[in-house]
Amino acid sequence: MSLSSYNKKRNFSATPEPAPSVGKGSGKKLIFVVQRHKATTLHYDFRLELHGVLKSWAIPKGPSMNPSDKRLAMMVEDHPLDYASFKGVIPEGNYGAGIVEIWDHGWYEPADENFTKKDPEKILEQEIRNGSLKFVLHGKKLRGEFALVRMKTAQPNAWLLIKHHDRFATDEAYNSEEMTSPGSPINKALHKK
Ligand code: MN
Repeated sequence: MSLSSYNKKRNFSATPEPAPSVGKGSGKKLIFVVQRHKATTLHYDFRLELHGVLKSWAIPKGPSMNPSDKRLAMMVEDHPLDYASFKGVIPEGNYGAGIVEIWDHGWYEPADENFTKKDPEKILEQEIRNGSLKFVLHGKKLRGEFALVRMKTAQPNAWLLIKHHDRFATDEAYNSEEMTSPGSPINKALHKK
């Protein structure tokens, strides 16, 4: 896992974002985080811990708990593990300038039933390489089984995030923007306009 792309895009004397160090991981549960990011456009950043970094996808419409939604998720550069707790303002002139807040966080595991017998990170790494990742999220908003599937026809970084049918899924319209608090820094900034 490499953070060189993450490093190249940023000047760490000018942004409060964490410096690029590959973490050791907790050795326990693998973490996930979803950050809401108001940059040039408002989007969500979906991150999964793997081998000491955060595999990352930018989701323009945000995640959904409705299995009929297929949310475009653009794979972006790996982020340091420390990024999972990052929230705040990225100053003007820096990569991703704007506001970051944490929308959901928790832990995740492979959906593969054999994972208890094997190293879960090996399974996840193989599934990412194969372009089809199935996992279970244990968050506050996002719960149950999901898939990230690489699209075959579009750009190489284009994936889809899809909720699977389970007891956590909903068949009602799901808008992640409605799952934010009115007093959040991004909502305050949006309403100032
Ligand atoms: Mn972002």
